[in-house]
Amino acid sequence: MCLAMFLAAGGVTVSAEHWAAVVGSLRGKVVAIDPGHGGIDPGAISGNGLTEDAVNLAVSQDLAALLERSGATAILTRQGGSDSVGTTDAGPSERKRIDLRQRVEQINLMGADVVVSIHANKFSDSTQRGSQTFYNPLRFQESQLLATMVQQQLQAITKETGRTASDQIDHYLLNHTNMPGITVELGFLSNARDAELLANPKYQQRLAYAIFVGLAQYFAREARDAE
Ligand SMILES: [Zn+2]
Repeated sequence: MCLAMFLAAGGVTVSAEHWAAVVGSLRGKVVAIDPGHGGIDPGAISGNGLTEDAVNLAVSQDLAALLERSGATAILTRQGGSDSVGTTDAGPSERKRIDLRQRVEQINLMGADVVVSIHANKFSDSTQRGSQTFYNPLRFQESQLLATMVQQQLQAITKETGRTASDQIDHYLLNHTNMPGITVELGFLSNARDAELLANPKYQQRLAYAIFVGLAQYFAREARDAE
């Protein structure tokens, strides 16, 4: 299947020239992708039963496919529906702790250039909506640039968010991984329109493409700054 068609299926049509311009900076990069939740932990759940772990995995797999096509290496912390733990006697909360610890260890061992954790939001006020990228500025300064570039593309490519990048997060994974990183909240499962969009494979591909272009721009900027 040709690339232009693959992207057109996600509602994003990309010329060969645009693709070449975007992907140059990604060749040889290693990107850790963490599809949040999984296994006994579905994460947030929408009113009509859409679970966050499934949405996170779908977008993560779309993002990984784009990165592999651009010559980067993408490594997911979970490949399927289960978490990273396997068989254990641990109870649910201890299992969750083990899972997060193992994901962090795995990411740090793979020597990734950046880490992208994928989640979706839920909030008591159901009018809140839109994707948003978070970073921890105390850990790596570059994370702010990475978050800003990804959020700009989420705005420009999905046209479904007015939110800006934010450092208002306390996320175990971002606090313990040894490279610049972001958490992308794909939207709010507590909002009807977001939940409908997040269930749509074409919209999932569009989100993945936005994150992908943001990553490419981040690496391009880094390469320029290093010159
Ligand atoms: Zn989550």
